[in-house]
Amino acid sequence: MKDENLIGNAKKATDFLGNTYEYECMGCSIEKGEIVPPGGIIYEDEYFILAQDPEIPIDGFIIINTKRHINSFAEMNEKERVNFIELLHKSVKAIKELNIADKVTIVQEERSKHLHVWIFPHHEWMNEKLGKGISYLRDICAYAQENATDVDKKKVLKRVNQIREYMNI
Ligand SMILES: [Zn+2]
Repeated sequence: MKDENLIGNAKKATDFLGNTYEYECMGCSIEKGEIVPPGGIIYEDEYFILAQDPEIPIDGFIIINTKRHINSFAEMNEKERVNFIELLHKSVKAIKELNIADKVTIVQEERSKHLHVWIFPHHEWMNEKLGKGISYLRDICAYAQENATDVDKKKVLKRVNQIREYMNI
């Protein structure tokens, strides 16, 4: 997988359901509803959108996108900062309480032009096949893209519904 794709700076993407999108900025297109991430938006408020990663079919791999086109935590206003930590807290709690994974890795890269935060769950198969730690995230993503079956993808979509229910209580 190309680096540009991984950080959301490519101009074109195909999600894991086979839908292809063209855009100037993926984060802005999600915000405008031009791109609907697989399974639909999980949670949305005035400042953020939470959704499944569109391109990587990993169970419980969710992403917080800012609604505004900013690319750094340094640019967040006070309301965004306060709301962000609450949303991150609840999202990580969802992964744990729904027994999706007992550990997550949180990633935000300023190389991406639109701020999005990965909440990346660690599943057993990752350790067995690829290894642990942040250096393996790229390999794990590529592996999931190449090897996820239709059954795996259905499971991801089912999970999106389950996390949506949790997030909207
Ligand atoms: Zn944007």
